[in-house]
Amino acid sequence: MTAAPTCCPGPCNNAWRLAEAQLATDGTEHDIPVTWGQPVHCPRCTSRTHAQLAELPELIVAIGLEALHGTAPKTTGTIGRAAVASWPGQASRLLTDHIVGGLLELEDDIRELRHLRHRPSRGTEARNAAGAVTFLGAHLDWALAQHPAAHEIHDRLSANPAAQIHGWHRTAQRFTRRDSRLEHHRIPCPRCELLTLYRADGDDYIECRNINCQLLLTPGEYHEHTRRLADQTRMARAA
Ligand SMILES: [Zn+2]
Ligand SMILES: [Zn+2]
Repeated sequence: MTAAPTCCPGPCNNAWRLAEAQLATDGTEHDIPVTWGQPVHCPRCTSRTHAQLAELPELIVAIGLEALHGTAPKTTGTIGRAAVASWPGQASRLLTDHIVGGLLELEDDIRELRHLRHRPSRGTEARNAAGAVTFLGAHLDWALAQHPAAHEIHDRLSANPAAQIHGWHRTAQRFTRRDSRLEHHRIPCPRCELLTLYRADGDDYIECRNINCQLLLTPGEYHEHTRRLADQTRMARAA
C-alpha cells in the first residue's frame, strides 16, 4: 500500500501551519516551505522521537533522584499545575507515574492494534519502564506512520505517539533541570507575542515556552521573523 505523502504533523511544520492559517484568514502570502512526511513524519522528527524515547529510562531515574536529593522546581509541566506537592517526593512520584503509566498505556495500545500478545509482567517499575521503551523503540517506525493518531498535529493534548514521547521527555527534562542551558531570544514570539522564545543547548529549534503556544521555529524562520520585525520598526519610524 503506497499512500500519498502528507505534511509532517511534527513541530517542523509549525511555522508553515501558522502561515497557512494566516493565508486562509486574511490572504497573507508566504514562502515558508512545507516539510513532507516519509510517509507521515519527516526523517528529522522520526529520529528526534527515537532519541527522546531512548533517553527516557535515564530521565526516569533522575526524576527519582530528585525526590531524594533535590528540590523540585515549581513548574513541572502538566502534573505540576494539578497540585502543590504536599509531602517530600510527591512531585517526583506523580511525574514518574505519569511517564511510566503513559509508556505502558502506549505499549498496550500498540500491542492491541498490532494483534500482539499481552504485555508480560516484568516485576518492578524500572523493568516495566525499560521493557516499554524497548518495545516502543522496536515499533516506533510503525507507530509514527500507522498508529491511528499518527497524523494528529503535535500538541499538548495529541494522542500522536511522537507528541506523547516529546511531552514526557520535555517534562522530565524540565523537572530535572536538564534544560537549564537555555538561550533566551529577546524577540516577541510571532504567534503569542510574549518574550518566551528560547533555544536549548543542542536543539534544532527555537521554542516558545508559553505553555499555551509552544511554537517551534527553525533558525531560518526565526531570522526571517526578526528581519520582518526590524522592517516593521523601520516603517513605523519613517511614518
Ligand atoms: Zn517533521
Ligand atoms: Zn508563543
